Amino acid sequence: MNNSRNSVLIIDDQETTIAVLRKILDSEYIIYTAESGTKGIAAAEEYMPDVILLDILMMEMDGFTVISALKNSEKTKNIPVIFITSLMGDDNEAKGLALGAADYITKPFTPVVVKLRIGNQIRLLEQLRTIERLSMMDQLTDLPNRRCFDERFSFEWLRSSREKTPISILLIDLDLFKKYNDSFGHQQGDTALKTIAKVFSGTLRRPGDFAARWGGEEFVILLPLTDSSGAMEIGEQVRKNVEDTVIPCCDKGAEKITISIGVYTRLDDCSKEDFILRADKALYNAKNAGRNAVRLFGV
Ligand code: GH3
Ligand code: MG
Ligand code: MG
Repeated sequence: MNNSRNSVLIIDDQETTIAVLRKILDSEYIIYTAESGTKGIAAAEEYMPDVILLDILMMEMDGFTVISALKNSEKTKNIPVIFITSLMGDDNEAKGLALGAADYITKPFTPVVVKLRIGNQIRLLEQLRTIERLSMMDQLTDLPNRRCFDERFSFEWLRSSREKTPISILLIDLDLFKKYNDSFGHQQGDTALKTIAKVFSGTLRRPGDFAARWGGEEFVILLPLTDSSGAMEIGEQVRKNVEDTVIPCCDKGAEKITISIGVYTRLDDCSKEDFILRADKALYNAKNAGRNAVRLFGV
């Protein structure tokens, strides 16, 4: 069971209906209420409830108009809406569902059915959240994956542009990993990847720092609000911590692995693509310098 309670927004222009629904749902959910469509749309934006119960026949703005507005808004479009209405007939139900309603309940309603139907939506929501979380994670290392990185990178890049703050990146590649796999087996290679991923998470201290698996045996660390000397310092720490780490294995030869790191700090108005490309060039230089090294682009 989730510790934090889910929330339901009731939009209905009849106080008595709101009171009845509140009584049914109060013990299980956080309840928000709105007595008109306009107020309901505003409340949905403000509170971002998990489910919305929406009346159709309302004086000022009807439920069909309200759901259209909710579905047209980027912010509220994914909140499941259940119509709860005295307006009967297949046509109305079809219209409601076609407009994006998740479910349709007719008045007079039975409390247990209302509860069960809301429960269904909450369960779907939780499944969706699990899928979303998994789609952002790398299964082997438990680090965020490339997709998650791309999202975070776009967000931090915009922030750095807007606020004129520095942003740095470390591109990391395991040294001679093909040989490691060939010598100790792919499964041991996986153990090494998992162990090293933990070193990255363990080394980063600031909440904004972000490590992800770039793909294969490559990783990336994004350092917002960090200039090149700070980034080099963290790069060196990461390199050393990996060098000092003992990878669990019965074969002594497999206990050590090293990494090479390319570092770049955004200086001018370089593009996002150049930002990565320059870190990659620095990584190439670190490999050429003999591996187990950290190199800053342009130095
Ligand atoms: P360099 O120091 O120049 O980077 O040499 P390298 O051997 O690390 O580079 P190369 O690109 O030739 O080899 C990368 C290896 O990483 C080959 C590939 O099988 C291995 N690898 C990529 N992803 C995984 C994975 O998920 N698990 C394991 N065990 N190995 C992986
Ligand atoms: Mg590689
Ligand atoms: Mg490599």
